[in-house]
Amino acid sequence: MEKMIENKENTNFIHQIIEKDLLEGKNDKRIHTRFPPEPNGYLHIGHAKAIILSFSTAEKYNGLCNLRFDDTNPMKEEEEFVKSIKENVKWLGYDWADRCYFASNYFEKMYDYAVQLIKKGSAYVCDLNGEEIRKYRGTPKMSGENSPYRDRSVDENLELFKKMRDGEFSTGEKTLRAKIDMSSSNMNMRDPIMYRIIHSEHHNTGNKWCIYPTYDWAHGLEDSIENITHSLCTLEFEDHRPLYDWFLDELNVYHPQQIEFSRLNLNYTIMSKRKLAELVENKYVTGWDDPRMPTISGLKRRGYTPEAIRDFVGRIGISKNEGVVDMALLEHCLRDDLNKKALRFMAVLNPIKVVIDNYPENQTEELEAINNPEDESAGKRKLPFSKELYIEKDDFMEDAPKKFWRLTVGREVRLRYAYFIKATSISKDENGEITEIHCTYDPETKGGNAPDGRKVKSTIHWVSAKDAIDTEVRMYDRLFSISNPLSDKEKSYLEFINPDSLKILENCKLEPNLKNINNGEAVQFERNGYFILDKDSNDKKQIFNLAVTLRDQWKKIQKNKK
Ligand code: ATP
Ligand code: MG
Repeated sequence: MEKMIENKENTNFIHQIIEKDLLEGKNDKRIHTRFPPEPNGYLHIGHAKAIILSFSTAEKYNGLCNLRFDDTNPMKEEEEFVKSIKENVKWLGYDWADRCYFASNYFEKMYDYAVQLIKKGSAYVCDLNGEEIRKYRGTPKMSGENSPYRDRSVDENLELFKKMRDGEFSTGEKTLRAKIDMSSSNMNMRDPIMYRIIHSEHHNTGNKWCIYPTYDWAHGLEDSIENITHSLCTLEFEDHRPLYDWFLDELNVYHPQQIEFSRLNLNYTIMSKRKLAELVENKYVTGWDDPRMPTISGLKRRGYTPEAIRDFVGRIGISKNEGVVDMALLEHCLRDDLNKKALRFMAVLNPIKVVIDNYPENQTEELEAINNPEDESAGKRKLPFSKELYIEKDDFMEDAPKKFWRLTVGREVRLRYAYFIKATSISKDENGEITEIHCTYDPETKGGNAPDGRKVKSTIHWVSAKDAIDTEVRMYDRLFSISNPLSDKEKSYLEFINPDSLKILENCKLEPNLKNINNGEAVQFERNGYFILDKDSNDKKQIFNLAVTLRDQWKKIQKNKK
């Protein structure tokens, strides 16, 4: 598939609109977009699509993109979220320069605009409560009814609106509404609410305001104030566009163009901030940055790279088609990126001891290993080899079936970068568990090849026992065990949380070179997958997270399609 966003040759319907606008000289050929998160949670991979679209569109056409916090609701917004959003956007590789704005900084301007509409007779103060407003609104099939307060005089409206601002009414007692059309076929146009009274402290404006603008009233104004040219948002706002346009036309102010595209939906996860918050608050996960979360912070901690996420968003493309993207594609993009970059190491996750009976006691030799077969410039490293090693438990079988090519008594295999070894016997404890596999090695096969040309059927990884680092590895799997956790009408999505989404392996053995690995740098544990050092690590103990295994389901899916 082509990269639709990053590749300059390619285009999507939004870029086609922009190119037409440029050709026609619209907005003096300026391109200015924005990313407008509400700071009420951490951003998820769906937001990454919106971020990448708005910022890369500006980049492509030498324009600008603002970061704007749409903080019009005092109830659920927090500084922590503002901070995490800024970090996430930066981490994805984008720069808003000095253009980080807060919608709440425009409250005074918005108030003035509202007064303007009241003076025009296009807005009124309404005393109906929430339930009554809903009743008067009608249904999609039935026209609504005018509010009994709709015909208040301009002077009365001005006075009441001032009193609303001055805190003379209680929460919910009155609203300011646009006077449009209670019989419009578009429900959003049936005298929508512009302001509601909420006596609640705001993270930015404190107690200055007790009336707060609604999204529909505020958003177009924010875009207009910031001179945005193309306001890109998701399809659920399509039905709100007539209202967006109505407010700007009524005020006769600079009028950006709203364009909608389809949201990203991904299987095996959920993408609603409210539900993600529920997972965090009820401790189904360890936090917003739990490596199982589809949040940008979670993906980062899991080992995802900005390159992999940008590649993913490029591959899914921008359109108006609603669909569900396969998680396997996201995972594929990560493998694709890490395959090129990640240094390879040996790590044994479920260790069992191998004793090489004919290897000299107390001897250690340094063998040479390749750091990244995909990148020669990554160079080589030394691996200590000694008499006692660890291999993976499941690389040995006592009663091996015919097609088991790995180690069993009597069979010879290659130890990666080391020697051929042959298993001769096993020792067991009183419970019948294997404690040691005894082997002999062939000193002639140093480096992993036999001078006499004899072949072995498999190559396994290993770690020198006395040199190994003990570590914890957290094996992550998808957060939900079914593809669409919201599909069941009877059961809550919480019932579909994958009970095996985290398995902790406490007794892993790593090659000593991993001691110096950098925080935040993903590595490959050969044959096991890509891993990243977790922030829970300390001086005494390293902890690694599984980013993704090496089995690429996406490639398989594509192959089966052909
Ligand atoms: P959620 O529905 O997950 O709670 P939201 O839409 O309320 O998210 P906002 O902070 O309002 O979150 O979103 C900021 C921007 O991100 C909006 O322009 C919105 O259209 C876009 N966005 C949100 N979710 C997705 C998604 N799944 N795919 C693409 N863009 C998205
Ligand atoms: Mg929203």
